[in-house]
Amino acid sequence: MLIIRTGQDLQMQVNLLKNKGLKIGFVPTMGALHPGHLSLVKTSLTKCDITVCSIFVNPRQFNDPEDLKRYPRTPEKDQAMLEKAKCHILFVPEADELYTDHENEQYQFGELDKVLEGRHRPGHFNGVAQVLKRFFTLVQPDLAFFGQKDYQQLLVVKALVKQLKIPVQIIACPIEREQDGLAMSSRNTLLSPAERILASGIPEMMQKSLNVLKKQGIKEAKDFVFKEVSRFPEMKLDYFEICEPETLVPLQTYLSNQTAVALIAVYVGKVRLIDNIVLSAQVLKV
Ligand code: AMP
Repeated sequence: MLIIRTGQDLQMQVNLLKNKGLKIGFVPTMGALHPGHLSLVKTSLTKCDITVCSIFVNPRQFNDPEDLKRYPRTPEKDQAMLEKAKCHILFVPEADELYTDHENEQYQFGELDKVLEGRHRPGHFNGVAQVLKRFFTLVQPDLAFFGQKDYQQLLVVKALVKQLKIPVQIIACPIEREQDGLAMSSRNTLLSPAERILASGIPEMMQKSLNVLKKQGIKEAKDFVFKEVSRFPEMKLDYFEICEPETLVPLQTYLSNQTAVALIAVYVGKVRLIDNIVLSAQVLKV
């Protein structure tokens, strides 16, 4: 695996590969890698000739400096995992490779980046858009792979490439979960053993809320989750919403075979976790 630290070196490599007609897949990450990240790398390896994975803890997408400080960093382990997965290029830039002080573009995504994560983490998606714009320019990927774990981010990225007419196809990859159902996340390593047990209840609670939704409706499903979370003083609900899957407009009523997405952000201790379930008619029949 080639390890590249500067934008200039990366562009040089990419130009060589492109001139050979090779198809480039890109997996942007913030490191502290787990099998969820690797599933994106593996999908890229099957669809592309060359896979580039980036590791960069992007300061501009953190609205809370404490969260940025605490974010887990495991560079040696990450590198070994990517080597083992047979990733071709690891790009690990420093912040000044990507940003100059006077550049601070502002993007407009309508309501999409104002709800849910956007409402609770002001500036987050603008930071995501800024870094991805730079990565897409340097990597020039044919395909880029994103996890449905960050459902809203996926929609924002699709909106970004459409808006800027960036010639890259965005591929959505399913959520990888731990055996007990908890969505894999770099932040899970920050949980204490007791918090980890509490966190494992999140997906089950969401599944149960779907039954409430089916039988009683949206308000009751939301009340159910609110009540469940408030049983535990260590947990605090940031949001739980059931939304239209393309626009993320919260639904007011639910029709029995409607496709929707249920999204949650919840603190377990100091660790903020997100998860989501896409509801289709098929899921609701279960
Ligand atoms: P992050 O390092 O958290 O910024 O994540 C990098 C990429 O990995 C994003 O596209 C995430 O959506 C994706 N990802 C993170 N966790 C998972 C997971 N459990 N399953 C699938 N993809 C994931």
